[in-house]
Amino acid sequence: MLTLFIATGNTNKVQEIGATLNELGIKHIELVDFSAYPSYTPPQENGNTFAENAIIKAQAAALYSQKATLADDSGLEVLALNGAPGIFSARFAGAGHNDAANNAKLLTMLADTPAQNRQAAFVCVLALALPNRQFWLAKGRVEGIILETPRGEGGFGYDPLFYLPEYGLSMAELSQKEKNRISHRALALKKALPLINNLNNFNRNN
Ligand code: IMP
Repeated sequence: MLTLFIATGNTNKVQEIGATLNELGIKHIELVDFSAYPSYTPPQENGNTFAENAIIKAQAAALYSQKATLADDSGLEVLALNGAPGIFSARFAGAGHNDAANNAKLLTMLADTPAQNRQAAFVCVLALALPNRQFWLAKGRVEGIILETPRGEGGFGYDPLFYLPEYGLSMAELSQKEKNRISHRALALKKALPLINNLNNFNRNN
């Protein structure tokens, strides 16, 4: 069976990617994560864009594991903050800070921003890389509004502050199944599906 390395240290992402691929019918590929490579040290994410960071993560992990590898770089872009926190979403409140600190900082920065100016988007770029350094990218984006107070218990990161007007719910109020159907990550995975389904051919030809 073909193996696909899901190269992210964020267990929420691993879980979402695994569940979404399962929903999308990827049953013939064995998914492994960092737990399969306990000695692996991920590279520094020093790119300037989601795409650059996704490529850095995917290529390093594919070289190390010698397996086809999928890496995700994602984050929140807030219009009133000129696209921040963007690629710095995970460390918005500083290195070593957690989701609660990031959310608190976001609310403080938007304290004087009225509801009509709180537009935001979740962005996910997936990089699929082979050990020979070939790679492909797929991007997903979902638009919403930053709430004034958190809502919901599901998901992770900024989900409790991200309101989806179409659904009348925050991302954290969606069921896991629903989030895995509509999220930025799910949209990117749907675009990457033909590439993932073709991995057998790529592996044969390279
Ligand atoms: P990365 O691991 O460097 O790609 O950072 C991703 C960060 O973006 C996470 O730590 C979260 O703060 C945020 N993020 C990415 N995807 C999501 C999501 O699906 N929900 C909420 N926050 C997210």
